[in-house]
Amino acid sequence: MVADEEGFLYPHVDESKCVACNLCVKVCPIINKKAEKAFPQKAFVVQHRDEAILRESTSGGAFSAIAKWVLDRNGVVYGAGYDGHFKVIHFAVSAESELYRFRNSKYSQSDKGDCLAEIKDRLQRGQLVLFSGTPCEVEGLLSFLAVPYENLITLDVVCHAVASPLVFRQYLDVQKQKRGSGIVDVRFREKHYGYSYSTMSLRWADHQEYHQGVDTDVMLRAFFDNMVSRPSCYACAFKKRYRPSDFTLWDCFVVDQFCKELDNEKGATRVLLHTEKAMKIFEGIKDDVKLSEVSADRLTQNVREMSCSISTNPLREDFFSDLNHMNAEDCFHKYYPISLRSVVEKRLRLFFLRVGVYKYVKRLAKKLIGRRTVRR
Ligand SMILES: Cc1cc2nc3c(=O)[nH]c(=O)nc-3n(C[C@H](O)[C@H](O)[C@H](O)COP(=O)(O)OP(=O)(O)OC[C@H]3O[C@@H](n4cnc5c(N)ncnc54)[C@H](O)[C@@H]3O)c2cc1C
Repeated sequence: MVADEEGFLYPHVDESKCVACNLCVKVCPIINKKAEKAFPQKAFVVQHRDEAILRESTSGGAFSAIAKWVLDRNGVVYGAGYDGHFKVIHFAVSAESELYRFRNSKYSQSDKGDCLAEIKDRLQRGQLVLFSGTPCEVEGLLSFLAVPYENLITLDVVCHAVASPLVFRQYLDVQKQKRGSGIVDVRFREKHYGYSYSTMSLRWADHQEYHQGVDTDVMLRAFFDNMVSRPSCYACAFKKRYRPSDFTLWDCFVVDQFCKELDNEKGATRVLLHTEKAMKIFEGIKDDVKLSEVSADRLTQNVREMSCSISTNPLREDFFSDLNHMNAEDCFHKYYPISLRSVVEKRLRLFFLRVGVYKYVKRLAKKLIGRRTVRR
């Protein structure tokens, strides 16, 4: 896999080693796109009972409950976490104490390294494996494996898009330079101001902390503005309701519409179960979570990001051209200055949060001025 000038990895065929078997084309899930077929599904809204796990998780911590079920049966869990330099990569963990590394969404595309071959090997040796990732990663794995494995469980997320690892790297470098200290933790979706206000949190070696929301943090702004996503995300081939995975997980900002008991600003996950295997596993996690069953039609209603690709940003090409020619901080400032508007927006968000009406105002704003212009 070789990174292009935007920082996204693409397969590169070493012609001197290629035996022209054409297998890469035969298993490609984009070239061989399968038609979506409806089948019975079950749906739940979930909130983890463990307050610490819930706080660390992006939404309701459903991923951790499912992953624990696998680890309790001597399985391994693959997910996206950071390496020692905050590069997002996929790797395996086999201890519950390591699961925190996968918690919290990282909006940068993950490097899968040799995971796919490693997973195939484990499956063939009969080990129980949970693979979690974006829908394209799950379909990529299933195509690569070619045959079904009873000991494989797959979990995908409803995915807005993935951002450029190069932009994320530059963002962290700029933050480090500005602070003059090393970074020890990065969380894209910390519940610092509550669940419904997406906040980027950084922790520095000098014990200082940074918490900025979707209106003032450059990385979150660029991501939700569709400025820095992978070109394939603008015409995603994997967004759909009926998926080949076992589980699909996503945010539930409208939890009050499904279950008043879980409406507490701590986060809730929407969980869609696609297979009998998922339904059996779900029975086994019920003690670890609070949940409410909902009809699958209701849970998926009006979830645009489940089936619609993100819209293009007309400035995307200019942004990447500038990023490759300008100082990164100047480039970020050119496209995402801290303007009076962003500061006022932040103050308003915090005010509405304090008086407890934030989510209603956000919903109303989305209706009145359109989804594209209201960030999460
Ligand atoms: C790139 C991305 C975009 C998303 N977009 C949306 C959206 O538009 N709307 C929505 O409702 N929900 C979206 N989600 C899903 C949401 O953010 C939560 O992941 C989901 O609600 C599950 O939360 P949890 O608390 O149960 O799990 P958590 O404990 O938060 O678990 C996180 C899970 O996400 C996986 N993950 C984290 N980062 C990556 C990554 N870079 N690549 C692949 N997998 C990753 C981990 O492996 C783990 O399985 C997105 C997630 C990601 C990763």
